[in-house]
Amino acid sequence: MIELINLNKDYTNEEVVTPVLHDINLKIAKGDFLAIMGPSGSGKSTLMHILSFLDTPTSGKYIFQGKDVSSLKDETLATYRNQKVGFVFQSFNLLPKTSVWENVRLPLLYAKDADEKKVDQAIASVELTHRAKYLSNQLSGGEKQRVAIARALVNNPDIIFADEPTGNLDSRSGTQIMAILQKLNAEGHTIILVTHETNTAKHAKRIVRIKDGEIVSDEKNDDQIIAERTKLVK
Ligand code: ADP
Ligand code: MG
Repeated sequence: MIELINLNKDYTNEEVVTPVLHDINLKIAKGDFLAIMGPSGSGKSTLMHILSFLDTPTSGKYIFQGKDVSSLKDETLATYRNQKVGFVFQSFNLLPKTSVWENVRLPLLYAKDADEKKVDQAIASVELTHRAKYLSNQLSGGEKQRVAIARALVNNPDIIFADEPTGNLDSRSGTQIMAILQKLNAEGHTIILVTHETNTAKHAKRIVRIKDGEIVSDEKNDDQIIAERTKLVK
């Protein structure tokens, strides 16, 4: 589904060039569950932004579903960002004083044939139906992140990107989030998780380590941790 070929990314600010990614070669198949690991500043978020069509490489190729992304029109890229990928962030990024249901519906506001049943289904898939009418700021951190996952799912994207999704959570809530990501992966969703925590990365099927903008290892995870699905509904 994804292929990066000799991809490089530099940031240029006031004529100062900062090289961030060097010669990245990476293939990601449909249904994979990848963890991208590396210390802070190693280029993980930059790589995720390129993969999710938010940023463009300085050189090299990004092939997505057989198409060279650099050849796509801005309009197509905007549609890809809205429909092919879903995002989950460390800081949840929910609208406060807005209901769970409205938060999850947000990505559908841009869709032509929005089917609001999808909102209910996405909320059910993270087991938050009993909280649908709550305001997002009335929820615990773990619940907020489940709302963010439902919002990422509502357009049935090809890939879910999760950038440090457990970074702001206690360990029990973090485990629940990993259990949900594993369930979604088992249902066929491709997941790309960015983390600097070894224990979190071990929930993935494959671990790619990056350091100073280079891939230093790319291995199947032979001791995958299966997150226990503690009861989510209180
Ligand atoms: P990570 O997510 O692994 O912590 P990032 O991808 O956010 O790393 O950043 C990698 C490097 O790129 C860092 O040194 C950061 O300072 C630099 N960087 C990120 N965004 C920009 C930008 N817009 N302009 C200049 N440098 C940037
Ligand atoms: Mg980052």
